[in-house]
Amino acid sequence: MTTVEPMAAATARLRAAGLRVTAQRIALLMAVDESPGHPDAETLRHVALRVTGGLSLQATYNVLRALTDAGLVRCTMIPGQPGRYETERGDNHHHFVCRSCGSIRNVKCAVGRAPCLDPEIPGTYEIEEAAVTFWGRCPDCAVTGD
Ligand SMILES: [Zn+2]
Ligand SMILES: [Zn+2]
Repeated sequence: MTTVEPMAAATARLRAAGLRVTAQRIALLMAVDESPGHPDAETLRHVALRVTGGLSLQATYNVLRALTDAGLVRCTMIPGQPGRYETERGDNHHHFVCRSCGSIRNVKCAVGRAPCLDPEIPGTYEIEEAAVTFWGRCPDCAVTGD
């Protein structure tokens, strides 16, 4: 079985983050880790269902929220789309979103830590991060010109 190792790793990460270990949390953390790109909750639910049964979309959102709050998963909100998830690597990267096809790709943060922009705001405000999203057209869509 090739699933034993990632399962053990996911269990260890849940414990290290102080989360109670459940089959659904293991399954969804593994789903986020192994899914390329920026899947939404419904996509992750289908991946996780290979490992655990009876996972509703609401339960999926609840688990993803717990994983995000614990710092294991990063959730990116893009206007007009459901939340997108990926493994949190602490690199403070940003995103490029194609206006034509909706594809998302990572953009390296020039600074590498949050907040990477220095806002003109009184110092009494505690700034945690700058959410930067680049919008435009990906190479595929730029070629077809639609
Ligand atoms: Zn595109
Ligand atoms: Zn990303």
